[in-house]
Amino acid sequence: MRELRGIPVSPGVAIGSAFVVEDQKRRIPKRAIAPADAPAELARLDSALRASIAELTAVRAHTKAELGDEAAKIFSFHIGMLADKSLTLPMRHAVENDLVTAEYAVFATLQALADRFAAFGEGAFKTKVDDVNDLAQRVLKHLVGESVSRLANIKQPAVVLSRDLTPSQAAAFNREHVLGFVTEAGGRTGHTGIFARALGIPAVVACKQATELATPGTPVIIDGESGAVILDPDLATLARYRKIRERDRLFRLKLDDLRELPCQTLDAVPIDLQGNIEFPEEIAQVLAAGGTGVGLYRTEYLYLAQDKEPTEEDHYQAYARCVGLLGGRPLTIRTMDLGADKYTQERADNPERNPMLGCRSIRYCLQNPGLFKRQLRAILRASALGPVRVMFPLVTTPEEFRRARFVLNEVIEDLRDEGVAVDANIKVGMMVEVPSAAICAEMFANQADFFSIGTNDLVQYTLAVDRTNEQVAGMYNPANPAVVALVRNTVRAASAGNIPVSCCGESAGELEYVMLLLGLGLRSLSASAPALPAVKRLVRSVTIEQCEQVVEKASRLDSDAAVSSYLRDATRKIIPEAFDGRSAE
Ligand code: PEP
Ligand code: MG
Repeated sequence: MRELRGIPVSPGVAIGSAFVVEDQKRRIPKRAIAPADAPAELARLDSALRASIAELTAVRAHTKAELGDEAAKIFSFHIGMLADKSLTLPMRHAVENDLVTAEYAVFATLQALADRFAAFGEGAFKTKVDDVNDLAQRVLKHLVGESVSRLANIKQPAVVLSRDLTPSQAAAFNREHVLGFVTEAGGRTGHTGIFARALGIPAVVACKQATELATPGTPVIIDGESGAVILDPDLATLARYRKIRERDRLFRLKLDDLRELPCQTLDAVPIDLQGNIEFPEEIAQVLAAGGTGVGLYRTEYLYLAQDKEPTEEDHYQAYARCVGLLGGRPLTIRTMDLGADKYTQERADNPERNPMLGCRSIRYCLQNPGLFKRQLRAILRASALGPVRVMFPLVTTPEEFRRARFVLNEVIEDLRDEGVAVDANIKVGMMVEVPSAAICAEMFANQADFFSIGTNDLVQYTLAVDRTNEQVAGMYNPANPAVVALVRNTVRAASAGNIPVSCCGESAGELEYVMLLLGLGLRSLSASAPALPAVKRLVRSVTIEQCEQVVEKASRLDSDAAVSSYLRDATRKIIPEAFDGRSAE
């Protein structure tokens, strides 16, 4: 048994066998296979070698046509190596006799060759070392690099352990069989957590060495509350976690009774509780959890779930489906927010050096008006079917908001000219998630029809903490006084400008921040479906005055850690069952 620790990002306990997603860019760990699996492993090896040769042959032909014979020679050398039995036989032997995975066989054989070249010193041999490493990456890509399709084909219930989980991987995998996630990278509000919460499965990120230490198939426990990841647990630990899992289940079952009850505080202040979704299918869960609509539809998953840009019709089908499923309840569609952590930079011609501050989100849309208009056309067409609002992400300056609104108005005109029905009075709002927008919120309140505070990015940009970077995850804190001041200012400006404001960042669904947000004046929250019942339970157990006192007390504490532990304790006092699973152990 071995216990690792990471950052818990989605609550609950998962118990299952490990599905390890290797990362070809790193050292491949030596993993044993069962003798019975050797033939399948050999077949994987052969097919990766064949695929690499086919790929190299195509690259060679292309290079020859573009740059001539001399430049194409290097690829002939690579093909020659892969066809050379003196290199491939040791790989086969490693699988058959040493019973190791195909990826380890490739890695170890090519590493040994690179080491031999390196021992000859610098000069021509250095180039050979690079060639061999290059070749190793290519073959490994065919074995482990296609984690997207491997994840899509998970056949049995499993706990996924991976170096990182990109949004594209998350969008593609077979969700039926994933019991939980563990990643070595990631921060508190990265997309692994968002995704796991949406699915209602436990997840732990920033768990060092998880993929190296876990062997595929070994039993794993994930505790999405404490951040513990236990490999190969002993029987007593298994029994303990089964009990906790059962208690969690019962706690959630009890919450079902709240579904039809109004979401209001003890002093009868109504709080609007809506759901965040990435896919239309999540609407059923939002409604089952008592959500009154969708406060944030992250449409970028339409782009990430496939390799090509969605057509206007793809967009429209998705939005029309949401409107239908919501049956008259409101739908807030956020225009695509690709870039930064939600854009595979590998796909870009010139990957950005600092993508979090780069051409992402509304900036990208304004630079690509064709793509932007295709999405706006679909949103507007869907607005004729039911209550739809449109929301722009990452708005940084008032001009930017005006430009986006101008494009929207152009699209409304185009559609009207074409005789297509639209809601010409569609509400046009913005995310407040960049400090400039929160600081100058009054200026934006004159232009936008509504605000939705995105604490995930607001924390990242205010505190200069990459939300996906495990090294600085300890500094990421939605209750930091600077963030609190920006939320307060945004709420104040919205109220002065008489426009609605809500919060759709992850903190809206994290119990310990709910009283803080209500105390700051928010009366509308949007969170992932599985988080909604517990938030409602908390809302129904507090008064606004109590929440205001929490804000007041928190503001007098002098460290982020003190604020966090105070908020947790204050919440635990009100709703101990939500925390009790472990403390009672
Ligand atoms: C946010 O930044 O708080 C937010 C809700 O948007 P996302 O997490 O998609 O960036
Ligand atoms: Mg954001």
